[in-house]
Amino acid sequence: MPELPEVETSRRGIEPHLVGETILHAVVRNGRLRWPVSEEIYRLSDRPVLSVQRRAKYLLLELAEGWIIIHLGMSGSLRVLPSELPPGKHDHVDLVLSNGKVLRYTDPRRFGAWLWAKVPLQHSVLAHLGPEPLSDAFNGTWLHEKSARKKIAIKPWLMDNKLVVGVGNIYASESLFAARIHPDRLASSLSVEECERLSQAIKAVLQRSIEQGGTTLRDFLQSDGKPGYFAQELQVYGREGEPCRNCGTPVAAGKHGQRRTYWCRRCQH
Ligand SMILES: [Zn+2]
Repeated sequence: MPELPEVETSRRGIEPHLVGETILHAVVRNGRLRWPVSEEIYRLSDRPVLSVQRRAKYLLLELAEGWIIIHLGMSGSLRVLPSELPPGKHDHVDLVLSNGKVLRYTDPRRFGAWLWAKVPLQHSVLAHLGPEPLSDAFNGTWLHEKSARKKIAIKPWLMDNKLVVGVGNIYASESLFAARIHPDRLASSLSVEECERLSQAIKAVLQRSIEQGGTTLRDFLQSDGKPGYFAQELQVYGREGEPCRNCGTPVAAGKHGQRRTYWCRRCQH
């Protein structure tokens, strides 16, 4: 599943190809995504792209009269390609651009979304989200205040979009390792200092992943068509039984709900 760093990488990849160009029209080959593709997208014609933004894992294309909201779902990807390149089986949406290219959306599992909004941050998919993890609004104080009465484990709490957006399963495990906090700790048991350490760890882990162009992901393609597969050195995620890179103790694994969790028994408390 594309995580926040992959979505941000996509944003940075497509932005220079879209801003200042005009969308001549859209080609929707299969509008049955997670939700039906919005009617307004079928009717697009001659709309300049003003900006390409991101909120949580949604990409926002700003046009003069409204915004296209794109979610990559489980297996979606965006590429900028020459318009004459024939579409493949899973290429469900094209935005045909004035520069002879198309922004092509590929999504084998069709859990993604193409929506339209006049005011995107008021759309139901975006209206109730917590702060961006890389913004100043997300910090140790915020984390501590929101966690004070939370009698759930910190790992699944970090993945709750009402607390902070974009901390997926991989990044929750990696951030807790970096902050030396055990994933089973009750959220309410974290001190201010631990919350500060954890918020800094989340920012650092996400930032590093964005700089590397997104983390390991089978289905993800960068906007230029190169696989978004980087040999990012994950510290604990997916390394059950392998030696902790810090102390050599075999990495432990368990589950929170349906999600795998990895940690070091010796380094995390
Ligand atoms: Zn260790």
